Amino acid sequence: MTEELFRDDATLDECGAIVLAVDPAGIQLDRTVFYPQGGGQAGDRGALVLAGGASIAIGDTRKGEAPGSVLHLLAPGSAMPELGERLTLELDWARRYRLMRLHTALHLLSCVVVAPVSGGNIAPERGRLDFDIEMSQLDAAKIERETNALIARAVDTETVWISDAELDAQPELVKTMSVQPPRGAGRVRLLRIPDIDLQPCGGTHVRNIGEIKGIRVLSLRNVGKRNKRVEIALVD
Ligand SMILES: [Zn+2]
Repeated sequence: MTEELFRDDATLDECGAIVLAVDPAGIQLDRTVFYPQGGGQAGDRGALVLAGGASIAIGDTRKGEAPGSVLHLLAPGSAMPELGERLTLELDWARRYRLMRLHTALHLLSCVVVAPVSGGNIAPERGRLDFDIEMSQLDAAKIERETNALIARAVDTETVWISDAELDAQPELVKTMSVQPPRGAGRVRLLRIPDIDLQPCGGTHVRNIGEIKGIRVLSLRNVGKRNKRVEIALVD
C-alpha cells in the first residue's frame, strides 16, 4: 500500500518517502504526492532525489496490480534506488497544476453541456469530454462563454465523502457512463463545487475555481454515435 497524500491535499509538491519495492515495472514507495494515471487524468512526472543529492527522473505514474499500490516509472537505463532507502519526491508541479486546472474545468463543462458524459481525457495541454448528445446542440461560443462565467464565480471546491449506500440512493450524481466510481471501500469521494456541481471523483482539483482563469474551446467533433467531443484548453 502506498499512502496517497494527494487525496487529502492536491497542492503538495514534495514529500519524503521510503522505497518499498524496486522493480523494472516501477518503484513503490510508502507514500507519494504523485497521482497515478486514472479517471482520464495523466500520471504525474517529477524526480526522486536521493540523500546524496542524485536525482532520478520519473516519467510517469501508474496504479500497480495490488489495490492501493502506486508505481513510479523510470526512464529506461535509469539508476535504481535501494530497497529501504529514504528519498525525497519532487513533483513536476507546473505540469500537475495545469492538469488540476483543466480537470476542474471539465467539471464545469459537464454542467454547461447537460448530457451524459461518455468519455474524457486530461493532458497538460488540453482536456476533453465526450457527451451523448446531438451535434446540433453544441455551440462552441456558448460553451466557452458559460464555462468562463462559472469560472468567474471563483468559489472554493470541497471534498465530501458519502457511503456506497448513499450513492446508490442518488444515481443521478454519476454523470459519467464509462467510469463508475470505485466501490468496495464503503465510501466514495465526491467533489462539490458549491451551487454548480457535485459528483464522484478521485482526481486532483484546484482549491478555488477562479484558479482556472479561463478556457477556450479548441474543437467540437463527432467521434461516435454516443460520443460528441468537446475539447478545451486553458487560456494561459
Ligand atoms: Zn474531478
